[in-house]
Parts: sequence; C-alpha cells; structure tokens
Amino acid sequence: MQPPAILARRFVAGATADAAVAVGRKLAARGIKPTFDLLGEDVLEAEAARRIAAANQGLLRLIPEGVERNISIKLTSLGFDVSEELCEEIVRGILDTAREVKGFVRVDMEGSKHTERTLRFFQRLRKDYDNVGIVLQAYLHRTPDDVEEAIRRGDRVRLCKGAYREPADVALQDMAKIRAQFKACARRLMDEGAYPAIATHDEELVQDALAFAREEKLAASRFEFQMLYGLRPARWDELVKDGWNFRVYVPYGTHWFPYFYRRLRERKENIFFVLRSLLGG
Ligand SMILES: Cc1cc2nc3c(=O)[nH]c(=O)nc-3n(C[C@H](O)[C@H](O)[C@H](O)COP(=O)(O)OP(=O)(O)OC[C@H]3O[C@@H](n4cnc5c(N)ncnc54)[C@H](O)[C@@H]3O)c2cc1C
Repeated sequence: MQPPAILARRFVAGATADAAVAVGRKLAARGIKPTFDLLGEDVLEAEAARRIAAANQGLLRLIPEGVERNISIKLTSLGFDVSEELCEEIVRGILDTAREVKGFVRVDMEGSKHTERTLRFFQRLRKDYDNVGIVLQAYLHRTPDDVEEAIRRGDRVRLCKGAYREPADVALQDMAKIRAQFKACARRLMDEGAYPAIATHDEELVQDALAFAREEKLAASRFEFQMLYGLRPARWDELVKDGWNFRVYVPYGTHWFPYFYRRLRERKENIFFVLRSLLGG
C-alpha cells in the first residue's frame, strides 16, 4: 500500500488526481465545494516545478462538471526559490488554464521568509487575473495591515491562523492573542472584503464569524468557511445544512510528509486519529 493510504490517509485524499477528483465528487454530492492541493513544497529544480505545474493544469481539466474547478498552489513547489521569473511564467500558465475552464487558483501562504515576496508576486498576477486569491495568516504582526490593503484592492483572501513556526518578532505566540487577531481580521474581511474564506477548525472562531454575520445581517453569499480534509467532517455538514458556503481543502499526491507533520504538530488529537486509523479504526 502507498504510504499516504496508511499513515496520512485521514488527511490526504489519495496519491493521484483521480483519487482527489473522486473525493471532490463525493463532497459535491454533500453540497461541499473543494479546493484541490497537489502536495509539494520547496522544489529546487526547474524541471520538477514545470512537472508540478503541468499536473495542476491536468487536474483543472480533469475536474468534471458539477465539481468546482478550484485549486490551491504553493509557490515554493513551482520554482519560487529557483527564480521568480520562472515561477511567474509557470503560475501564469496555470492561471490561463484555470481561466479556460472557469476555475480559480488560491496561492497558499508559506513561512514568513516568503510573505513579502509572495504578496508582491500575487499583486503582479492580480493586474492580469481575477481568478486568483491569496492567504493571510492571522498570527503575523503585519496581517491587520495586509487585510486593509487586500480590502482596498478587492483581493480574495483566505484567512487562517498560520501553520509555520515563526519567531516572536514576526508572529504572535499566544493562542488567545492569535484568536483575537483572527476575529478582528475576519470581521473586517467579512464586512468589506471580496468573498473572504474563514479557514479554521476552531469552533470559537467559527462561532464568532457566525455571530458577526447575524449581527450585520450578512447574506450567506458574502463569504465561505473552509476546513481541511479529514478534520471535523460532521461540522462540514452542519454548516452546509445551515445554508453557509463551505469548502474543503483536499490535498493529494505522494509528497505528503511536511503537510502531514504540520497537522500532527498543531493538535495532539491528530496523532491519536492517525494511530487509530493505523489500527483500522
Ligand atoms: C482550508 C485551510 C487552508 C489553509 N491554508 C493555509 C495556508 O495557506 N498557510 C498556512 O500557514 N496555514 C494554512 N492553514 C492552516 C492554518 O494556518 C492552521 O495551522 C490550522 O488550520 C490549525 O488552526 P485552527 O484554527 O484550524 O485550529 P487549531 O489551532 O488547530 O485548534 C484550535 C481549537 O479548534 C478545535 N479543533 C481543531 N481541530 C479540531 C478537530 N479536528 N475536531 C474538533 N475540534 C477541533 C479545538 O477546540 C482546538 O483546541 C489552512 C487551514 C485551512 C483550514
């Protein structure tokens, strides 16, 4: 059996694009939208980056009618640290394919040494594309300013806490403070942003977004919730049943270890899920 099927199967949809699409179909039948992520990061060879881009383009074309053509990409898997020019050429190719199939591409946010470069790169793409969005991480000190900038520019933002280990001069370290900053940023984006995505499994944050939507009488079409494949699946159905837009991040592929490791590190219960699934539970 492939390693993802054994170790990471709770968090990873499968090794192939077909496996990911099969999950996408099942989600669509439950009223849930997907964003597909071909796992990979820190690719340092141009040819490998081009192969990953071609695989993303192949996936966009493979997604059938009735399943949203929405993918998430990591710039470091697409040559960002080889050369920005190469990466831009590659990502523009993906965006052109997405445009052809009426799809959308979300640029994931990686560690803080890439934040400023990623935002500048994203702004260059935004001059020519509407079908691209960005991620902002609530734990970074800079993020409230980036949220205001995104609102001014009409950028589509996914807000998450942030998954990388960051030093105190760059990011908040205390969970209560991260939650407070997340809530403030989410409220700003829901109020004035362009269809933001509230990406968290943290019920306190979900409840705060719901309370804000009720207080401000926001239409459900103004924003969406997002969660990761394998985490809180019962909650997905409840949110959909209550009429909210909901998307699941569906990772697939064989380069699953860094993603898997971040999931284990951020929540000890995830380790138990893995152990249980190893025992066949
Ligand atoms: C769709 C999506 C996309 C993301 N994209 C990025 C990205 O581009 N860049 C990036 O840095 N990070 C990304 N992340 C990861 C994110 O930054 C966090 O690391 C991750 O979501 C964990 O934070 P959390 O807010 O979900 O909850 P946590 O901080 O892990 O947990 C907080 C609380 O939430 C509740 N909770 C959490 N998980 C569960 C569960 N399985 N069951 C029941 N209760 C639970 C518990 O009460 C827990 O104490 C993304 C996350 C999502 C959901």
